[in-house]
Amino acid sequence: MVSCEIISVGTELLLGDILDTNAQYLSRELAALGISVLHRSTVGDNPVRLAEEITAALSRSDYVILTGGLGPTADDITKEVCCSVMGFSLETDQNILADISAFFKAKNIPMPQSNAKQALVPVGGTVFHNDNGTAPGIAMEKDGKCAILLPGPPREMTAMFQSAVVPFLKKKNRGAIISHTVRTYGIGESAMAEKVSDLLENDNPTVAPYAKDGEALLRVTAFAETEDDAEKMILPVLEEINKRLGDYIYGTDVDSIQQALVNELRAKHLHVAFAESCTAGFISKRLTEVPGASEVFDCSIVSYSNEIKSKLLNVKEETLAEYGAVSEQTAREMAIGVREVSGADIAVSVTGIAGPDGTDTKPAGLAFIGIADKDSVRAIEFKTGRNDREYNRYVTASKALKTALDSAKKY
Ligand code: AMP
Ligand code: MG
Repeated sequence: MVSCEIISVGTELLLGDILDTNAQYLSRELAALGISVLHRSTVGDNPVRLAEEITAALSRSDYVILTGGLGPTADDITKEVCCSVMGFSLETDQNILADISAFFKAKNIPMPQSNAKQALVPVGGTVFHNDNGTAPGIAMEKDGKCAILLPGPPREMTAMFQSAVVPFLKKKNRGAIISHTVRTYGIGESAMAEKVSDLLENDNPTVAPYAKDGEALLRVTAFAETEDDAEKMILPVLEEINKRLGDYIYGTDVDSIQQALVNELRAKHLHVAFAESCTAGFISKRLTEVPGASEVFDCSIVSYSNEIKSKLLNVKEETLAEYGAVSEQTAREMAIGVREVSGADIAVSVTGIAGPDGTDTKPAGLAFIGIADKDSVRAIEFKTGRNDREYNRYVTASKALKTALDSAKKY
């Protein structure tokens, strides 16, 4: 397997002034390409330490990807240091110089003399055009090793990575790499991993678990001669995962639960509506992030107060008095109420304690999700187990979206 390291260059990273989002982005993208990231480091704008870091990385890995330090100022030294470590000389590339001056001309500002240094490229290197800034990217290859230098600003770096570095890496590493991501909700990462523990030992396809925002994911990656072959290798693994994780899975290669819900509702020509108490519009916000949500989404009523629960959703005052706003009974009546108001096929309600103030019987993180669809009405108790207001609102919204999805799947 091809190995890689990432070096983030910039004193501001070491000072904690900015977060190293480039390394996270590159790690994720390289993993999707089937390239193993074995090591990551951060180094300031210091030529001696940078040279040491590059030397060590090249001794360990096939590829070293550096971001930052390609700017025009004196502290930007990545290119110069890398050339000296790898034995390349620099010369001005007239095309790039013309590009850089055109970049400033388009903005109607004179080109500072210091920017001319960005047109210096290593003799025998590969140059990647920067569509969003002035620093070109560079690849230098020697003795079977390759250093790739990318600009620091994330907007420039990510665009260049997609348009130039991905094709460059694919050309160098023949064969095909295919990845699929299976997304689950309602099972923890370790419980999920246990159910597929034997698959996690596989070499090819690899199966890797991870957790994010209260969800557990599995990424399945295969390497083969062709994309078709890789897909054929992945298929039985996906089938096995489906068998073992069943209803926890809300989708494969979908962006989010809300995306899976919109897809399902569209395919079935169904409409959904929500009544939200503790999530206060979060569910509808997430649902409407998905383009085309208007085809399937009728409304979400944010019924925060008891009065509105009664007035708009017809929740009985006796129910609120006897069981409280956060109860199975109220959740049921909220779901029935919003289904009547909207005429939607599927109605889901949420009432809960986001926190931080809960009680012994109704702790923070407790919620009831009501569901009224074509053939049943019920409510389920849901506990996040945490006293974290934002987390509780997020995962409770996820649970409501998943509940609507499970209902839609029945039809
Ligand atoms: P440079 O190429 O070193 O001139 O970096 C230009 C700007 O890009 C810096 O001021 C940061 O705002 C940003 N930047 C550099 N490195 C990173 C990184 N690893 N992650 C996120 N932003 C970065
Ligand atoms: Mg810098």
